[in-house]
Amino acid sequence: MKLRNGNGNGNGNGHVARNGNGNGGKGVNGNGNANGNDGDHKGNAHRNGSKNIEVFDYLIVGAGYAGSVLAERLARGSGKQVLLVDRRPHIAGNAYDHYDNAGVLVHKYGPHIFHTNSKEVFDYLSRFTEWRQYQHKVLASVDGQLVPIPINLDTINKLYGVNLNSFQVEEFFASRAEKREEIRTSEDVVVSKVGRELYEKFFRGYTRKQWGLDPSELDAQVTARVPTRINRDDRYFTDTYQAMPRHGFTRMFGNMLDHPNIRIMLNTDYRQVRDMIPYKELIYTGPVDEFFDFQFGKLPYRCLEFKHETLNLPQHQPVAVVNYPNDNAFTRVTEFKHLTGQEHPKTSIVYEYSCAEGDPYYPIPRKENAEVYRKYQQLAEDAGVHFVGRLATYKYYNMDQVVAQALTMYAKLSNVSRADGLQMRTEPAVTAVTFPVLKPKRAKTLAQRRRAVLEVP
Ligand code: FAD
Ligand code: UDP
Repeated sequence: MKLRNGNGNGNGNGHVARNGNGNGGKGVNGNGNANGNDGDHKGNAHRNGSKNIEVFDYLIVGAGYAGSVLAERLARGSGKQVLLVDRRPHIAGNAYDHYDNAGVLVHKYGPHIFHTNSKEVFDYLSRFTEWRQYQHKVLASVDGQLVPIPINLDTINKLYGVNLNSFQVEEFFASRAEKREEIRTSEDVVVSKVGRELYEKFFRGYTRKQWGLDPSELDAQVTARVPTRINRDDRYFTDTYQAMPRHGFTRMFGNMLDHPNIRIMLNTDYRQVRDMIPYKELIYTGPVDEFFDFQFGKLPYRCLEFKHETLNLPQHQPVAVVNYPNDNAFTRVTEFKHLTGQEHPKTSIVYEYSCAEGDPYYPIPRKENAEVYRKYQQLAEDAGVHFVGRLATYKYYNMDQVVAQALTMYAKLSNVSRADGLQMRTEPAVTAVTFPVLKPKRAKTLAQRRRAVLEVP
């Protein structure tokens, strides 16, 4: 992997520093001269007046799962030359993890737990990481107690101070459930299973905080992610494969992208380079409405603010995540050491606050938004650009679903089945893209690198 930490100032020259993102990738110190000052770009084999820049087969926007899986497959599977750009200062998208100042491995953008029923997806990612087996547990803070969520037998017994068995708790739910002709909204899902009281204790407040909407205004799929159980199973997920990358997500992405045909420019918005970088095809994994300059209006996304803290004690809470449905402004608190298994005398946690304005994290599943998305989707189909990922296809997707979507896209681009696409492998071509490397610049100090990041417009 060649990591090019571009300055994103539009001229592309003079500022390609070591990446400094701590992911173990190889940095490159070149002059980053990909400026193509004649403005010639898409579709043309290209020489920019200086020596030896050729065309990239693919310009990929976004180094999250969607962009990185495609970069990996196109480079390693098909021998394509790929330029991967991301406006953030790191790879791995929202799954990015790093060691904080105390040396605790944390997830910058909130808790990410890998789970899937797809052997294909799990086997594919296993090429780039070893795993740590992990079963995710979540408690909810309700009526002054911490009780299991998804609601199960123990939740009911603890909450109401009773000692029901599975049959009795099933009757308990049935006696409270409200009949619904049709399960349309996120309110219907819960109320039709466990009744209004439990809905209000566990779901209504949390959902209103998280989405800024009442569950009755959201598609059923949102709360349907959380089941109800009559047994004592307190796992958050029941997928066949549940595990955390042994050395973290960022390291897994570093391994995925470690290929000579993949160049990476960080701190680079693709709009700053799209007219300068010669490429044949564009893959875009950012927000779809932004790509089309919001011409049908802004697609609503839910934003998040993260408040990270390190505490001078070894453990803060009994499980990785505690949800706060009713009290407090935050929705949940995550303690990372439960996820990673790291041993450390201190512990780091993150509070999540949901908000309407800011970086987009969640597409909001409801009918009105799907209708606006369909208009963008139509434009996308006509644009000759490949849109993949959670923000680009406006889908509330988990990581494994995005990996699967990207693998499907690769198969389509390569005109093979998905199973065959996974097996494809070529030896890297060594000459197709070369950048003139001038005298290496002196490595920048951390302070200089930080300044450079802050100066990005
Ligand atoms: P992203 O990871 O968002 O990557 C897109 C990248 O594109 C970003 O890095 C962005 O900087 C870049 N980009 C956008 N526009 C531009 C541009 N113009 N120029 C350059 N770069 C650009 N999934 C799970 O399976 N399990 C979990 O436990 C889980 N927890 C989650 C918790 C939170 C708080 C959130 C928000 C999501 C969670 N997810 C989880 C979902 C998971 O994060 C996503 O499914 C996955 O990361 C989506 O990958 P992606 O590549 O589509 O998008
Ligand atoms: N939810 C809730 N209470 C909870 C947990 C979840 O109301 O204790 C609802 C809420 O609307 C949430 C959705 O179920 O957004 C999906 O939960 P999940 O934990 O899957 O959310 P994510 O991890 O994607 O943020």
